[in-house]
Amino acid sequence: MLCLLVLFDDLSYAQKLKDVLSKAFSFEIKVIKAKKPECLARGNQLNADDFLGELSLLRKNEASDIAIGLTGSDLYHRNLNFVFGLASFATKCCIVSWHRLKESENKFFERLVKECLHELGHVLGLAHCANKKCVMSFSNSLEEVDEKEAGFCNSCAEQLKPYLRI
Ligand SMILES: [Zn+2]
Ligand SMILES: [Zn+2]
Repeated sequence: MLCLLVLFDDLSYAQKLKDVLSKAFSFEIKVIKAKKPECLARGNQLNADDFLGELSLLRKNEASDIAIGLTGSDLYHRNLNFVFGLASFATKCCIVSWHRLKESENKFFERLVKECLHELGHVLGLAHCANKKCVMSFSNSLEEVDEKEAGFCNSCAEQLKPYLRI
């Protein structure tokens, strides 16, 4: 199984992120850069659905099974003020924005990893988890992101077993 990791903006942590995700998941990860799609905008926020649509095309072009896109742009989704990310089980794609994760540099990378694990969990079929420590718990604030751990609880991990290394 192949996972495309698409950088819509430059990210100095890209290799480090690939390494961490490669340790967690059993699939192969291929990193590519892509031009940011012409998204619908609301102020300086971009439409997350548009990103997913573009990512879905890239995924097919690259003959990849799943894809995760990363951007520094702030994202909105329907009536939500912002989202850290968005996933589609149907198109096997997810997008993560690091725009709101950056407030503290030493926590930034860990937050980014958590949001990537979370959205990939959705792509692989997981719903939100009631366990606040589980990476699949829903986060609407940085406090909630910080509260959860960078890993799946036993129940979520069990469901993801075919895709996890451990
Ligand atoms: Zn979610
Ligand atoms: Zn869980």
